[in-house]
Amino acid sequence: MRLRFILPGLLPWVPLWAGEPPDPHLKEYAARAALLGAKAGAPEWLELAAFCETRLLFKEREQALRNAVRADPESAEAHAGLGEARVGKTWLPADRAWAKEEAEGKAKGLVFYGEGWVTAREADRLRSKDRESEGWDLTVRIDTPQLLIFSSLPVSLTWRLAALLRSEAEAYARLSGTFWKLGRPERRMKAYCTDRKEFERLLLSENGTVPPPTQCGLYRSSTRILYVSCSAGEPRNEAKILQCAVHEMSHGCEHQLAGLSAELPLWLAEGLGDYWCHSTAGWQVIPGKAFFRSGDAGPALLKDALASPRLDELVAMREESFDQEGPRNYALSWALVHFLLHGDEGAHAEGFLAFLKQVQEDPGKADLWQSLGSSADKLEGPFKAYVTHRLLPSIQDFK
Ligand SMILES: [Zn+2]
Repeated sequence: MRLRFILPGLLPWVPLWAGEPPDPHLKEYAARAALLGAKAGAPEWLELAAFCETRLLFKEREQALRNAVRADPESAEAHAGLGEARVGKTWLPADRAWAKEEAEGKAKGLVFYGEGWVTAREADRLRSKDRESEGWDLTVRIDTPQLLIFSSLPVSLTWRLAALLRSEAEAYARLSGTFWKLGRPERRMKAYCTDRKEFERLLLSENGTVPPPTQCGLYRSSTRILYVSCSAGEPRNEAKILQCAVHEMSHGCEHQLAGLSAELPLWLAEGLGDYWCHSTAGWQVIPGKAFFRSGDAGPALLKDALASPRLDELVAMREESFDQEGPRNYALSWALVHFLLHGDEGAHAEGFLAFLKQVQEDPGKADLWQSLGSSADKLEGPFKAYVTHRLLPSIQDFK
């Protein structure tokens, strides 16, 4: 029988389980948490939370973050990790913080536009200026450190989208370590979040083609604009719109933050895009969270893909063959990126990140298997086991 301590308030450093933890990383977490005990400060707990993040210990990550808050109630990093935002002197879950801020703003007759609350008249002035410069009928703008977000979607949805994309850029930088060209690009990217009609009109006027019905987003590296909408013929599905935005933002991050070539192999670009969009949790992006959108036959796709894993083929695929069985190849690419970052207790992560660095420097000669010190043949067994035992059980509805 497994016992759980139920006095976290009194014994904040006691791990959530009792007895022998099954995962070696859990053991390490338990030892490190016990060592920190009651005296450690927020930085030590934040470091432990980061350890948990890369090892997919989500409950323990949360526990470490709560301990960081206990050690320093004003730790912005710890609150952000818990998905909280500050309103006045208190910290609240981000959605409640936004609702409170919105109610207070409205009560004062103010409107959110750009970076803060302004009078309705000022918002009108700024909006017409933006409409003129962007050439379409946006209604709200939200600025983040990485993006200027122009939107005709409801403000509450745009607000959540802005929080997610910001959290994603930060998580991207945490995960990818020191070799990325970190920091702010010299100019912020733009995001256009619109209804389907406007999305099609904008892309049609830009290059004369209408996006395929299932395509709900696009990152254009030449203009540094990220387009987000819903699929054609579908009612507005907020969860899908957010997921689409996070996927496209990953392409933007590769281009803007990492300086990766736009010519990334398809499995890698799309696998990373889906890795990030399936890591969405509430108002945050937590690497590896492994949510798969519902209603997309995700589990069936993965099972189907597993029936004949062909990693060598997948990593060599060009556009036509990748698109032929698009949904399956996206699912498989997502699973492969997840496996390379977290599978086999993190044994491949270093080689994979080195491979990414190599892609950045010399896209032509990068060789995945060599960087990993392995081969497709050797990895297919462990990959299959990882998908079966780790990824399939983790699939949930996207909320
Ligand atoms: Zn993509």
